[in-house]
Amino acid sequence: MRRLQSHLEGRWVAGTGRVETLLNPATEEPLAEVSSEGLDRNAALEFARSKGGPALRSMSFASRGAMLRAMCEGIQAHREELIELSVANGGNTRGDAKFDIDGATFTLSAYAELGKTLGETRILVDGDGVQLGRTPRFHGQHMRVPRHGVAVHINAFNFPAWGLAEKAAVALLAGMPVLAKPATSSALVAHRIVEILVGKNALPEGALSLLLGSAGDVLAYVGPQDVVAFTGSSTTGALIRAMPAVIRNSVRVNVEADSLNAAVLGPDAEPGSETCDYFLKDVLRDMTQKAGQKCTAIRRVLVPQPFAERVRDELVDKLAAVVVGNPATDGVRMGPVATAQQHKDVREGIDALARDGRLVYGNGALKPLGAPDGKGYFVSPVLLEVEPGAAAPTVHSREVFGPVATVVPYGGRADEAAAIVSRGQGGLVSSVYSEDVAFTSDLVLGLAPFHGRVFLGSVKIAEQSPGPGTVLPTLVHGGPGRAGGGEELGGLRGLEFYMQRVALEGSRPVIDRLTGAKG
Ligand code: NAP
Repeated sequence: MRRLQSHLEGRWVAGTGRVETLLNPATEEPLAEVSSEGLDRNAALEFARSKGGPALRSMSFASRGAMLRAMCEGIQAHREELIELSVANGGNTRGDAKFDIDGATFTLSAYAELGKTLGETRILVDGDGVQLGRTPRFHGQHMRVPRHGVAVHINAFNFPAWGLAEKAAVALLAGMPVLAKPATSSALVAHRIVEILVGKNALPEGALSLLLGSAGDVLAYVGPQDVVAFTGSSTTGALIRAMPAVIRNSVRVNVEADSLNAAVLGPDAEPGSETCDYFLKDVLRDMTQKAGQKCTAIRRVLVPQPFAERVRDELVDKLAAVVVGNPATDGVRMGPVATAQQHKDVREGIDALARDGRLVYGNGALKPLGAPDGKGYFVSPVLLEVEPGAAAPTVHSREVFGPVATVVPYGGRADEAAAIVSRGQGGLVSSVYSEDVAFTSDLVLGLAPFHGRVFLGSVKIAEQSPGPGTVLPTLVHGGPGRAGGGEELGGLRGLEFYMQRVALEGSRPVIDRLTGAKG
């Protein structure tokens, strides 16, 4: 079987020893294998620091932006091939696969444009200067410069293309080399992307390394100028934060973890209204796109109590029309979950949620279309419902990473909805669907401290918006508490993680010369 290789120290290398097999989750057919045993991770990090770092730092933002543009074009040229790989290795429908791959190129393109806008400079001036002394000569100014380490990027299984690209785009534009470690189970797409970029000579030597298979001891070698950006479960996030080298060297760590995203229907949005239809469309999309394996997917559906029954029934009708099966089969709208472990976790999660309320659609079991008998990690969409005012501790604390959501009736007041949503202990995104500006404003202020993003769903933006589940490169992605306390993207804001802010204190003409300011 094909053994995938890592790209470390500027060359392709295969691990030896224990192998892990990558499967098609719809058929359980083996596709490739990887091993990372025996790879010299310390040397890989040092190579990135000593070769990739200086090469990137010698480039202006504009030339790094041009490099991102070349990466974007390289991936776009292989779009069809990558979609097919994603269908096979990720259990994705074509639509799901495009969401991942086009998301990758869209983000690279956005950061390429930002690089062009920042122009021929290699530092970022941060805020206005300040007069520090009696005369303007004694001056202070903050600026940002790229860190001299390597950015270690550890990604989750659900977005192998976007996860790689969204983190790499920001780090590379900031001037830091990247060592990317995709999740093993879905690594075919990330591997092919790096193969394409290496083949195209899109980046300087050492600027982008790829570690396939287990992370092993890579985080034992991180140093004070390195950073670690992680996406995955909060359990692994906590482990990474506690690594001795991370603590000893004060390594910057960004964690993007679990989230119990909520969608709140306003009391003005009666069933049958345009706003309610829009809300239902977004809930259905989030439950079924990528079989619910999106960190931003809606897990809790808050509906004013008088509408709860009708909204629930409409959602049940829509879920009943979703054809689940092998995504390579015509007519399939939702594929399997990604791995046997995911399948087990989701089935256990449904049972746990069902102890808080009752199943109103599906129970996880089904006969998938186009899959070999007894094979594949399929789960039916599942909708649950809790009683108004029920404590429902599992609904507000357990992220079931699959096509599963729970209807939570509430009394119709913004403060009540905000209190219920905040029981999730911090999330990536929650949304409000209402045309009532006063209700929306009250709810947004209640939700904001607990989220990285709040989506204001209204018919006025419905035609233009991709919905709350889509992460945009110009807005921040991350969230407090359970969501990991991290922040990525957000245009220029994302670069801060990879750069050192330094306060300059001295003679103004010298500082102005350094920062390029016109005096
Ligand atoms: P995971 O098991 O935590 O794995 C995530 C990544 O960490 C994988 O690359 C994994 O490698 C690696 N890893 C595992 N143990 C490690 C260790 N001890 N040291 C270093 N790296 C280690 O999570 P997952 O199952 O892939 O992803 C599902 C979770 O991710 C969900 O909870 C979801 O909410 C979250 N997620 C969050 C976001 C976000 O942006 N906030 C986005 C997507 C997913 P292997 O694959 O080789 O084990």
